[in-house]
Amino acid sequence: MVQEKGTISIHTENIFPIIKKFLYSDNEIFLRELVSNAVDATQKMKRLATLGKYNGELGETNVRVSVDAHAKTITISDRGIGMTAEEIKKYINQIAFSGATEFMEKFKEAKDANEIIGRFGLGFYSAFMVAEKVEINTLSYQDSAEPARWICDGSTEFELAEGDRTERGTDVILYLNAESEEFLERSRLQQILDKYAKFLPVPIEFGTRTDTEEDGEDEKGEPKYKSVEIPNIINNTTPIWTKAPNELTDEDYLKFYSELYPMSEEPLFWIHLNVDYPFNLTGVLYFPKLKNDFEVQRNKIKLFSRQVFITDEVKDIVPEFLMLLHGVIDSPDIPLNVSRSFLQADSNVKKINSYITRKVADKLGDLFRKDRKSYEEKWSDIGLFVKYGALSEEKFYEKGKDFVLLTNTKKEHYTLDEYNAKVKDFQTDKDGRLIYLYTNDAERQDSYIQAANKRDYDVLIMNSPIDNHFMQHLEMKLDKVSFKRVDADVVDKLITKESEAKHALSEEETNTVREAFEKAIGNPAMKVEVEALTETEMPVTITMEEWMRRMKDMARLGGGGMQFYGSLPDSYKVSVNGNHKLISRILSTSGDEQAQLAKQAFDLALLSQGMLKGADLTAFVERSVNLI
Ligand code: ADP
Repeated sequence: MVQEKGTISIHTENIFPIIKKFLYSDNEIFLRELVSNAVDATQKMKRLATLGKYNGELGETNVRVSVDAHAKTITISDRGIGMTAEEIKKYINQIAFSGATEFMEKFKEAKDANEIIGRFGLGFYSAFMVAEKVEINTLSYQDSAEPARWICDGSTEFELAEGDRTERGTDVILYLNAESEEFLERSRLQQILDKYAKFLPVPIEFGTRTDTEEDGEDEKGEPKYKSVEIPNIINNTTPIWTKAPNELTDEDYLKFYSELYPMSEEPLFWIHLNVDYPFNLTGVLYFPKLKNDFEVQRNKIKLFSRQVFITDEVKDIVPEFLMLLHGVIDSPDIPLNVSRSFLQADSNVKKINSYITRKVADKLGDLFRKDRKSYEEKWSDIGLFVKYGALSEEKFYEKGKDFVLLTNTKKEHYTLDEYNAKVKDFQTDKDGRLIYLYTNDAERQDSYIQAANKRDYDVLIMNSPIDNHFMQHLEMKLDKVSFKRVDADVVDKLITKESEAKHALSEEETNTVREAFEKAIGNPAMKVEVEALTETEMPVTITMEEWMRRMKDMARLGGGGMQFYGSLPDSYKVSVNGNHKLISRILSTSGDEQAQLAKQAFDLALLSQGMLKGADLTAFVERSVNLI
């Protein structure tokens, strides 16, 4: 008994094949869209009841998802506000966009299904990605409303007829198309519901599960049990981010974390976000244990909009450096359906960005001030993050400079101010520059570190992947501070002071020594310099100038315009200590003996730096045996 036939007014021949084809890869979101609609209708109903605008029985209001494998249907049922035939015409038939031309225009630039579905109010129509026929069976909550039934086979033709529903609410029945039969599988649907519906605010039933229930008593007076089938609710309607922080315990946060990321190590700490002005945002962000790898940790923040899962690609919504955090953000104010570049320019998104940045910085500052010891213990995990943040966001640096820590080879931690005070007396050079010494490999550079420590110089450990950038940043920010790797020069020259040791050698002797070494080394990339150093320093030291090493590091990391430096061979300075006794000994010999001694002294220097390898190492060992 068809009441009305008509054409869906989208002014284009047939939009469904386009929707279907375009959205194919993302077709599972049909369930998110339909379940969200059911949830919305249910919430509206509850609100009307609360406001006293509905006087009937609210009854049970779960949303129900069911599958009929035989009939090849999926049904989404709710006890929400329902629709009258008029409303179906208005909300379903007149798809909310202004015309085919605009759609086709926008369709071309849309990057993913979310964009197109949301932007054109196509939520309901995503059903046609998986169904060849869709039926709506509905009864409005309004007094004396008539039930209505709408059927559409995916063409632009639809049928609107009187329905037979006797209870308020809506059933949407999908008759799956042949390519979409995977969705008849329970496990597949369960997976989709877990992804999108896990935290929806209205209970979602999916099938039933067996439970036990007391069933009277047996002869002995013991309770009897029977098994019963109860609705299987798949979601948690009040996830922690919807609650107030003071209602929650640490355990609640940890439990939620393991719900989100089963099998993960416990997070270090968390931040509860909660704003309602000038934008609406709630969420909980966790600090994971980072160690030194950050790639694997990315893309762990889940974005929700009113408890509907949207995406875990939050790249343009949270600041880049915060991508290392885990957790959830829920905001109805993030425009979900616009292109990426638009999103970055969106003023709400910008505000959200700086809000989160500020909250994170405040939290870190709090931790530092309240319990410095535990903060220091966590530093190996959060250090990378704090440095990354300081590098990428000026605002974060401004706060972070008070709680960023420098760690020295003795594993002592200092804030920037503390470190300045610690080293300023010993490590200021003759031009008034403060030289911060560092090592990126304390084992290999041990001899240099020891030499520096003997001078009362302190050496920092800078071995994380971003330390090179971080040091450069500090050089820019701090007044008259330069970083120098501890093997950038002989210790006498790392920090140039007024007084220089006097040369024990004459100019002629200096030349003889240099030539002897040049011959023994036989490598033009090793530039020999005979210098007046402290007697007790090593006879030979191999160094690479700080600026040269940095250029090469940058070239290696792919810095623009740095290729030139990358193509240079490694060039080192070989500092020969003209004041060392061994050098006087070399001077007193000649010919083969001189060459052997020079070579031996050079190899020892290589050895102490872990640069002596292969055949050279074998030759060195043989020569040493002979000399002994
Ligand atoms: P959107 O949800 O973005 O408005 P949809 O295409 O998903 O777009 O739905 C269009 C409209 O149809 C909804 O705004 C709502 O008025 C109505 N509607 C859809 N599903 C239901 C439902 N289960 N119960 C009541 N009304 C519904």
